[in-house]
Amino acid sequence: MIKTSGYAAFNSTGPLAPFEFTRREPKPNDILIEIDYCGVCHSDIHQVKNEWGNATFPMVPGHEIVGHVTKIGSNVSKFIVGDLAGVGCLVDSCRTCANCKEGFQQFCENGSVGTYNSLEKDGVTRTYGGYSKCIVVSEDFALKIPTNLDLKTVAPLLCAGITTYSPLRHWGVGPGQKVGVVGLGGLGHMAVKFAHSFGATVTVFSRSISKKEDALRLGASEMAITTNPEKILETHAGKFDFIIDTVSAPHDLNLYLQFLKRDGKMVLVGLPNVPPHIEVGNLIFGRKTLAGSLIGGIPETQEMLDYCGKHNIGCDIELIAPSRINEAFERTLNSDVKYRFVLDMKS
Ligand code: NAP
Ligand code: ZN
Ligand code: ZN
Repeated sequence: MIKTSGYAAFNSTGPLAPFEFTRREPKPNDILIEIDYCGVCHSDIHQVKNEWGNATFPMVPGHEIVGHVTKIGSNVSKFIVGDLAGVGCLVDSCRTCANCKEGFQQFCENGSVGTYNSLEKDGVTRTYGGYSKCIVVSEDFALKIPTNLDLKTVAPLLCAGITTYSPLRHWGVGPGQKVGVVGLGGLGHMAVKFAHSFGATVTVFSRSISKKEDALRLGASEMAITTNPEKILETHAGKFDFIIDTVSAPHDLNLYLQFLKRDGKMVLVGLPNVPPHIEVGNLIFGRKTLAGSLIGGIPETQEMLDYCGKHNIGCDIELIAPSRINEAFERTLNSDVKYRFVLDMKS
């Protein structure tokens, strides 16, 4: 066993605190990654606060992991010692169901294994995430990292990046389309970067006027403040081909459904813990689609990372020491982060 340490939540209400635990020795297909950086996703906060009802403690969160390979198993072919490697939200799946075979491991019919707060396929070993010094993972669930990007800006691509890239690609967002991004946080700012990079015209819907300059710099052509819904409804009703909603808290979806054109699509990626109320008429009139999307499979995550390397796309981050994790949670809850906290695990 490999001794390591990190930060864990010990219950759903207290602060995260230092925690010592062990990782398995690399098996033939495993790599050992010394973690350089780990992003702080709002899902980590939902999980720690048990807002999705499945939390197990102690919990070491973190699924936006990048680092260096320091040991490889005897059958590893994708990595050598010294390589950069990344780990996102998944560390295993059944690998044999139809979804796994097609590269949609996030929809594994037999249950994928989350990077933390999950049980390994042995049904016994608990998974611990990236708020830690190292991780051992099958090379099949490790990603190759482009070497031209600033590594600390790559970490959040492993969740915020793929979660926004995947639906924009799946629904064919591109030139000539008007795209709305609801919520300018970790996911939202990457949705703006990708939609702009794919050639769409982007509007950000945010409560925070202070983010306007950033929204335009990130690639949006306008920002609409959502604190006065009636006013923005007048301007935006029936104008959008596609809207991606990244908001982490309960809010009114009906407003945004009214922004869609005929046959427009709205995709939810934010996952508040309260079910939304939908006025069905907002879907029927205009034949509109309301859909959801979950991270992305391993092949598409690699495609996204390669795309980011080619187009020089990283995340806008605030780098902090892991000892400041509780402050990072607080500030994320207050939408006071530009636009993702990343833990410097070497500090
Ligand atoms: P984040 O950085 O906290 O951003 C969320 C944004 O939502 C905030 O910046 C804020 O934007 C807006 N917001 C927050 N509270 C609001 C409220 N009460 N009313 C209206 N808007 C509000 O979070 P994130 O890391 O991007 O994650 C966003 C959500 O996606 C979370 O629920 C997370 O669990 C989920 N998620 C889903 C997937 C998936 O696979 N589907 C993957 C990762 C994360 P403004 O300040 O601009 O208004
Ligand atoms: Zn995440
Ligand atoms: Zn499967």
